[in-house]
Amino acid sequence: MLKLLLLIGVLVGAYYAFFKKKKSLTPPSSDNSQEEAMIPCTECGTYVQVKEALMRDGKYYCSRECMEV
Ligand SMILES: [Zn+2]
Repeated sequence: MLKLLLLIGVLVGAYYAFFKKKKSLTPPSSDNSQEEAMIPCTECGTYVQVKEALMRDGKYYCSRECMEV
């Protein structure tokens, strides 16, 4: 009986290990998700999409007005 439980434990562990491995093998879509990430404006704190934000000196701004303050 103990052996059976051990076997089930090993099978479950192998299943999860396989599942995790398989999941990590999916092609990374980080490029896309990074583009749609929201970041706060340095000046007013408004959240804007990274691709729509203005950047100056390594800081993000929501608009030209904020950037030129
Ligand atoms: Zn702003």
